Amino acid sequence: MGYQWWTLSNGWYLLAYDQWLGQKQVLHGLVTRRLQPTLPRWQWPEAPDFSLKRSEDFQRRLGLLMELLDIADWGAAYAAQVHRTTVLWNPPPVHATDLPEADGLMTDRTALLLGVTVADCVPIWIYDQALPAVGIVHAGWRGTVQGILEAALDILEAQGSDLSRVEIVLGPSIQRCCYAVGLDVLEAVYQAYPDWAPYVLEHRTQRWFLDLVGLNILQARRRGLRRTQIHPLRLCTYCNGSWFFSYRRGDTGRLLAFIGRLSASSG
Ligand SMILES: [Zn+2]
Repeated sequence: MGYQWWTLSNGWYLLAYDQWLGQKQVLHGLVTRRLQPTLPRWQWPEAPDFSLKRSEDFQRRLGLLMELLDIADWGAAYAAQVHRTTVLWNPPPVHATDLPEADGLMTDRTALLLGVTVADCVPIWIYDQALPAVGIVHAGWRGTVQGILEAALDILEAQGSDLSRVEIVLGPSIQRCCYAVGLDVLEAVYQAYPDWAPYVLEHRTQRWFLDLVGLNILQARRRGLRRTQIHPLRLCTYCNGSWFFSYRRGDTGRLLAFIGRLSASSG
């Protein structure tokens, strides 16, 4: 619920939050690993793998994506993701050879595409229509325990945002059905969240499963966001192997989650 697929002309499948698809001011989505099945094999597109480890491939695929989205003249900003809480405001467009370290990117500028790569971690899109500003966050368990989403919301507020008007979307990630974690992770969760109990599920097999999305929703709630401002897509990367890369399942590929502000005149 809440999401919609669309295909690019080269056969890539994108996923987006349906309520933002009609928005004229925001462009967002997630490049999945699915390919349009009706294309003959010789026409199959380049793999939609956005792993940053192979920077030339990443840059080429990002360039292709921007061309297909008709935003080839935009700048693009992304970062080496290090599972901490650094969020960059108005990052300069980067080249893959010299990436800043950050797990969140935000901007009030138009024509700047912000991207994070994920495979089980939670991509979180942030949109403040009033300011206006957009952002994207990469939240794994480490970032979640340290409060990456709150850090991003704090920056937005410092820029003049009224958080009661901000909306966030939590994209495909490993969900509580599949995210078995060890005691080291649980201990960090207990320390960061005194109210952790609903987010750790104990199965009869004596394994513990973490609700990473739930913890991020809790973070947003702590910063005053109402339920109606928070949109979890509830898609599990581990369960849906043909749609999403999953680190836990052994995939080396990465999904790209992106967002940018369109200028008022476009669309
Ligand atoms: Zn699952």
